[in-house]
Amino acid sequence: MPTLKPLLARNRSWALQQRQRDPECFEKLVSGQQPHSLWIGCSDSRVPAEVLTDARPGELFVHRNIANMVDADDDSFMSVLQYALHYLNVERVVLCGHYGCGGVLAALSLPEMALANESSALSRRIGQLRAALKGEIHSLPAGDESAALNALVEANVRAQFAHLLRCGPVQALLESGRALSLHGCVYDLASGHLTTLVEYDATEEAYP
Ligand SMILES: [Zn+2]
Repeated sequence: MPTLKPLLARNRSWALQQRQRDPECFEKLVSGQQPHSLWIGCSDSRVPAEVLTDARPGELFVHRNIANMVDADDDSFMSVLQYALHYLNVERVVLCGHYGCGGVLAALSLPEMALANESSALSRRIGQLRAALKGEIHSLPAGDESAALNALVEANVRAQFAHLLRCGPVQALLESGRALSLHGCVYDLASGHLTTLVEYDATEEAYP
């Protein structure tokens, strides 16, 4: 049976390294958090928010789900968004998709998958994603499958970003005049690079 031992050993080793780097690092975090950014990303194990941005504990407030979906009817997501914007006062929101996303691929191929006939949370979420990307799926170029998937991943970031801008907590904050920037990004598994696709800065014009 797999045990937790390897992870516990790595945890103690990590904690020791952190203390060696900054002897008071944990004491500083005990008193509270002031993350500068909210990260909304995919649950994919290859896209770990803190690791790929070289962030320290306390820097990012994070919500991850399959295919980085922004759903105003999802209380888990909406409570994270509200808390980050209105209680933690983060200064930026990063919505991050990634090439090679299994969730986006499943949305594309759902009609041919057994998942389509299941009654499960996963089936409902992927169905919802497919519905959200219906127009984009329809206009995908024929031929190169990986190019089509990459295009759909980018379309998903833009679609979820548009949903994000319409969310109540974001609208309320933008109307209040407080500084907030929102960034729709894509992460490339092959290079480790994060690239911006779309941005909105409350103090400037929106630019696609
Ligand atoms: Zn993914």
